[in-house]
Amino acid sequence: HLEINQLQKQFKTKRGLLTALQDISLHIEEGEFVCAVGASGSGKSTLLRLIAGLDTPTAGEILVDGVRVTGPGSDRGMVFQSYTLYPWMSVAENVEFGLKLQGVPKAQRKQQAAYYLEVVGLSTFTKALPKELSGGMKQRVAIARALASKPKILLMDEPFGALDVQTKEAMQQFLLEIWRSTSTTIFMITHDVEEAIFLSQRIYVLSARPGTIRRELQIQLPSKSNPQIK
Ligand code: ATP
Ligand code: MG
Repeated sequence: HLEINQLQKQFKTKRGLLTALQDISLHIEEGEFVCAVGASGSGKSTLLRLIAGLDTPTAGEILVDGVRVTGPGSDRGMVFQSYTLYPWMSVAENVEFGLKLQGVPKAQRKQQAAYYLEVVGLSTFTKALPKELSGGMKQRVAIARALASKPKILLMDEPFGALDVQTKEAMQQFLLEIWRSTSTTIFMITHDVEEAIFLSQRIYVLSARPGTIRRELQIQLPSKSNPQIK
């Protein structure tokens, strides 16, 4: 599980200290699907980057299964809004790349990549280049890549923000299926409240003014066994 205590992030800028996050405490239990919503500039990406270990907090702590986060690690998988696939690598190579960095042997890498590409329905595109794929497909590759290292928690920063409405809805359904079939813990950031309500079990709200209030709404939301989700 993920636990965040009294997190603060300040940036030094030319106009002085900018407080992007202040007094953020939250927890996400094993297998939960939690969203955080907030306006542009409310610190959503900053929060996710801190959890991913891509940046360091100025105060407070982040714990994954009780262990303090000090940098990137394979216990956290990240999916960005802009896919961030390597354009010169095939779909399979993109998925394998993170495993390679982790030192997973080649045969196992191939097998794991193939498995997760099947999970996201892209088995026939393993040799394709990212430019040959649609936006939704690229995002599915990014999800396969994040899942391949079997993270304890999947972090998603507005993953469907760049997609058209139809593709977005298909991807939301797809993500729910992934969540239910793999029981991965998911923390997704979005500015789309409707998306958050549709997908998650609990929602954190970051205040629009950076560095001020954070509220948690407890909303009755679809659960794994809810037959309303198809
Ligand atoms: P959006 O919805 O537009 O993606 P966001 O909620 O993700 O916004 P952040 O990108 O986390 O917002 O930014 C929060 C605040 O922190 C903003 O005021 C931003 O200018 C500031 N900020 C973020 N990163 C840096 C940085 N590296 N240096 C200085 N200021 C930063
Ligand atoms: Mg952002």
